Amino acid sequence: MKFGGTSMAGIERIRSVAARVKREAAAGNQVAVVVSAMAGETDRLVGFCREASPLYDPREYDVVVAAGEQITSGLLAIALQAIGVPARSWLGWQLPINTDDAFAKARIGTIDTAALDASLAAGEVAVIPGFQGVSADGRITTLGRGGSDTSAVAVAAAMKADRCDIYTDVDGVYTTDPRIVPRARKLAKVTYEEMLELASVGAKVLQTRSVGLAMKEKVRVQVLSSFTGDDAPMADTLPGTMIVGEEEIEDVERQLITGIAHDKNEAKITLTSVPDKPGSVASIFEPLAAANINVDMIIQNIAHRSSGSTSATDVTFTVPSADLPRSIEALNQAREAIGFGELIHDTRVAKISVVGVGMRSHAGVASTMFTTLGARGINIQAISTSEIKVSVLIHEDETELAVRVLHTAYGLDAEEAA
Ligand code: ADP
Ligand code: ASP
Ligand code: MG
Repeated sequence: MKFGGTSMAGIERIRSVAARVKREAAAGNQVAVVVSAMAGETDRLVGFCREASPLYDPREYDVVVAAGEQITSGLLAIALQAIGVPARSWLGWQLPINTDDAFAKARIGTIDTAALDASLAAGEVAVIPGFQGVSADGRITTLGRGGSDTSAVAVAAAMKADRCDIYTDVDGVYTTDPRIVPRARKLAKVTYEEMLELASVGAKVLQTRSVGLAMKEKVRVQVLSSFTGDDAPMADTLPGTMIVGEEEIEDVERQLITGIAHDKNEAKITLTSVPDKPGSVASIFEPLAAANINVDMIIQNIAHRSSGSTSATDVTFTVPSADLPRSIEALNQAREAIGFGELIHDTRVAKISVVGVGMRSHAGVASTMFTTLGARGINIQAISTSEIKVSVLIHEDETELAVRVLHTAYGLDAEEAA
């Protein structure tokens, strides 16, 4: 069982999580619980790091931000003990949960489950802070924002759990963020592949890596609500959304478009007047790669004659907003080698994506998207596609409108407002 930040926000809620865990244990299940920090806490800790220095050392950032989950894991163990459930917490370094040393976005390698297995066998509930691990040289690491989902799937895989239930503040995965579109529909099932794509383009209900890991390790994942009373259906009756293999979806359940996601956490960078010659693009992206910065959308405009005699081109791409200061620094340091004119950046952009395996066999998905946005006067600044996804970059202020009109255009609206 994994509980997210809203579910852990305050002692009252932690008590209700404890009651939920007790109910599952009383039904005869052995339970390991992975917890997030209280809602808002990780943001607060990140804020302290930025305030201390905008170019903070990621190793020390991890020491700071991992603290939120340490607190909630201890509190849940206390709350469980208080209602007669034997429980103890196991911090990332105590198990250990081994990760690589990509601080602030570390990947889990192996998890030693010996202590967990023994704890469960002795009738205890094991409480594990999400989001954290330990590097080979013993330093605290964190897994990237939203990483508790990945901790939960990794623990479930390592312990060979029957299921990994992700309890959150919505009762499943919807056709789009139900906070933006009240007419979004809850999906009973969604394939690993589509969930992976949805998560990677901004549906933050599950961290992308958690879905990739679940797919690879064949972990059965269910997303369900933690905000239900004692009379709620048991998790075994699958009241939420199951993430399943494609073979588990009946033909009649298949949709052309499964969902729409948005992401406001990208920033757009344009380098003007880049020399149009072999190796030019490499000279831009090598320093970014070396700084461990993920580049997403890339467009290179048609070469044009600049004032001189050599041809030049503008290169536009997006990076995570959080990495913008470091990106600018890396690019300015490589300015001579790249030979660009100006560096223009814009954080007021949003990426809107439509996802569905149906687009493999159906034409016209992208054109519906462009027509729908055009009719609303929404300008498209960049486009990228994959086999099962089309993404566009637009002005941030138009996010909600774009998601709503696309949701309607692809026939995803529920009959009645939820
Ligand atoms: P937690 O703290 O439990 O990890 P998150 O805030 O990370 O919760 O994720 C849950 C949120 O994901 C929901 O409150 C919802 O606003 C958002 N969300 C975005 N896209 C979707 C979607 N397609 N279906 C359900 N929720 C979504
Ligand atoms: N607390 C971490 C975050 O806010 C991890 C998580 O909640 O999944 O990103
Ligand atoms: Mg989350």
